[in-house]
Amino acid sequence: MSKFWSPEVRELTPYVPGEQPRERLIKLNTNENPYPPAPGVGAVLRDFPSDHLRRYPDPESRALREALAAEFGVEVGQVFVGNGSDEVLALAFQAFFRQAAALQMPAITYSFYPVYCRLYDIERQALPLAADWSVDLAAFAPSAGGVVFANPNAPTGHGHDRAAIATLLERITESVVLIDEAYVDFGGESAVPLVERFPNLLVTGTFSKSRSLAGLRLGYAVGSRELIEGLERVKDSFNSYPVDSLASAVAIASLADEEHFAACRERVITTREQTRSALERLGFEVLPSQANFLLVRHPDQDAAQLFVGLRERGVLVRHFNTEALRDHLRISIGTDDEMESLIETLTLLCQAPT
Ligand code: PMP
Repeated sequence: MSKFWSPEVRELTPYVPGEQPRERLIKLNTNENPYPPAPGVGAVLRDFPSDHLRRYPDPESRALREALAAEFGVEVGQVFVGNGSDEVLALAFQAFFRQAAALQMPAITYSFYPVYCRLYDIERQALPLAADWSVDLAAFAPSAGGVVFANPNAPTGHGHDRAAIATLLERITESVVLIDEAYVDFGGESAVPLVERFPNLLVTGTFSKSRSLAGLRLGYAVGSRELIEGLERVKDSFNSYPVDSLASAVAIASLADEEHFAACRERVITTREQTRSALERLGFEVLPSQANFLLVRHPDQDAAQLFVGLRERGVLVRHFNTEALRDHLRISIGTDDEMESLIETLTLLCQAPT
């Protein structure tokens, strides 16, 4: 505790993301993509004229926003970009959710949302998941406070289809509904086509997962012009938006390679379903997933012990030490070889006398 910190900062605890280990582990803990980015990305990195870095980036990130607008079939003015979707989410929380009424979110969802609520002094209402651990869309009430959830949800993996999201938006019209689509490319259905119909819908996405660019820090939001203008009001000068020139060029190269993108997604989805079957054979209960991870639980094994046993044998997964998730492990989908090692190690651990 430091006397130099302002009073609100003294109350905060820093967010601790999944570990980024120095040693070589099979890393299945932060939902990164096991495959490299599009080959065009390498070409941009090789050929990017370093002299371009002398200048500030285009203040409007026009070229990247145009590429994203073309990808999503919207106007450039309906696209916002930032340094990772975490940053875009932070700006959205500041722009839309500092309201008198509470922001509604599922009790189990991306753990950064409560952090933003504390940071920006936003009251939060957590709603239980449905019995099958899907986000209970019917539980969200029309209110001035807004709604946020990930779809597919994290760390559960369940996704709602577009029709279900449209039904929600027909009810909630007075405040912003923010749908975080960080994982949508692994079999989910995007709500982006609904932004024309619902001016209060903001969809965020990222290049970190399906485009294998977590190290680049690039995220975006798509919504009505009105919402994008709200984000522009709270953004930094040159730090968040525009995104830096090199990141822009890399992201455009990634968007240009539809074939590589589709092949990586398909590969991850196939491996996910093979991993599901293998885990079920070991006695795990595996939630349905439309994301690049599986949330699993073994009725006879302690999740914390499995986590430690895996780590000792070189496999890193995620264990959340919260009441609701203590019995679970979240396993990111890696390459087939990595998943084979995971299954071999779990087979050993599950057979060991406890
Ligand atoms: N949303 C969800 C649901 C996530 O799991 C993550 C990654 N941890 C993010 C957003 C942020 O991703 P990034 O900042 O890398 O775009």
